[in-house]
Amino acid sequence: MTIAVKNINKRFGDFVALNNVSLDFPTGELTALLGPSGCGKTTLLRCIAGLEHPDSGQVLLDGSDASDRHVRERQVGFVFQHYALFKHMTVFENVAFGLRVKSRAERPSETQIRKKVMDLLGLVQLDWLADRYPPQLSGGQRQRIALARALAVEPRVLLLDEPFGALDAKVRKELRRWLRRLHDELHVTSIFVTHDQEEALEVADQVVLMNKGKVEQLGAPDEVYNHPASPFVYGFLGNVNVFHGRVHEGVITSGDIALDVPSHGAVQDSKGTAYIRPHDLDVERYTPDAEGIVVKLRRAHAIGPLAQLDLERADTAELIEAVIPNDRYRQLGLKDGETLVVRPKRLHVFVDEGTSI
Ligand code: ATP
Repeated sequence: MTIAVKNINKRFGDFVALNNVSLDFPTGELTALLGPSGCGKTTLLRCIAGLEHPDSGQVLLDGSDASDRHVRERQVGFVFQHYALFKHMTVFENVAFGLRVKSRAERPSETQIRKKVMDLLGLVQLDWLADRYPPQLSGGQRQRIALARALAVEPRVLLLDEPFGALDAKVRKELRRWLRRLHDELHVTSIFVTHDQEEALEVADQVVLMNKGKVEQLGAPDEVYNHPASPFVYGFLGNVNVFHGRVHEGVITSGDIALDVPSHGAVQDSKGTAYIRPHDLDVERYTPDAEGIVVKLRRAHAIGPLAQLDLERADTAELIEAVIPNDRYRQLGLKDGETLVVRPKRLHVFVDEGTSI
C-alpha cells in the first residue's frame, strides 16, 4: 500500500502540532519519524492511523483520501511504547485476539488461527512462551509479542510509536537490530517514531527529521547524517562543534581561528557558523608553525577503540570535542593540560539564518 500525507495541519487550541506536512512513505520500506519531544511525531502517526483528524490536508492510502475511513478500515497495525497486552490472556490468546474478533465471514478456522499464531510466535522467536501470561514476560519479550499481535491481522502498514522506549539501553539495541531483520523478511511498509537519532539512523531506510511541527529534512540515513540541510539537523544528529564567526573570501574566522570554506560559492561577507563533527578533527601536538585550532587537552576518555578528547580553545576557552582512534591517542602519548592543534578534515558552514554553503 502506498501512504502519503499532503499539507496536513493540526492544532490543539492555539498550539500548532503539525504545520503543512507533506510526505511520501515508500512502499515496503521502514521510515523513521525523528525529532525532539513535542515536535509532532506521534500526532502525525495518529493522523495516519485515523486516531486523530487533521484540521486540513489529506492522508492518502493507495492514492485515495482516507479521511472518511475508520481506523479499522485503514488496515494498520500498531505497536506503542506502553502496549496494552491483555494481562488475563495468554501470549497465544493475545496474538490470536485480532483474528478472533473478525466478522464471522472473515474469521479463520480454529486450526488456521492456531497455525498462524504459532507461525508468528516463531517469527518473533517466542513460540516457547505461548502459554505464559504478559506479567510473566520481560519488557523486551512483551514488545515482541505486541509486534506479533499487530502482524496477525496482516496490516498493510505497521505504525510503531517508540516501541522500545520503555526498555533499557541494551535490550533496546538488540530489539532494533531484530526489528530491522524482521522487516527485511516481511517488507511491511512501516513508520517508526523515535527521538533517538542512533536508533533512527541504524534501523530506517528513510529518516524524516521533524522540528516544531514541520519537516526539516527527509532522506536516507547517510544522506541526512552527512548532508544535514539545516543547523537544527546538524545539532540533532550527533555531537557537533560549533564555531560562530564571519565568512569572507573563502575563509570563516571565529576568534583567532581561520578555517577554509571550500564551498563558499558567491558568499563575500556574511555572518556564518561552522559545524564540525568530533571525528572530523585531526589532532596533533602543538608546534609554533602548526596551522589549525590551538587547544588545551582538558581530559581524555580513552576506552575501547576510540578516544574522546575534551579540548579547550586557547582563544575563547570554549570547549571542543574530538574523537580519534585510541591507537592514535596512545601513539601521541597525550597528557591532560597539554597544548595541541586540531584541524578539521571536513566542515560545513551555514550563513545568515541557516543557508548551507
Ligand atoms: P514525544 O517524543 O514527547 O512523544 P512527539 O513529537 O510525539 O513528542 P506529539 O505527541 O505529536 O509530539 O505532540 C506534539 C505537541 O502537541 C505537544 O506539544 C503536545 O503537548 C501537543 N498535543 C498532542 N496531543 C494533544 C492533545 N490531545 N491536546 C492538546 N495538546 C496535544
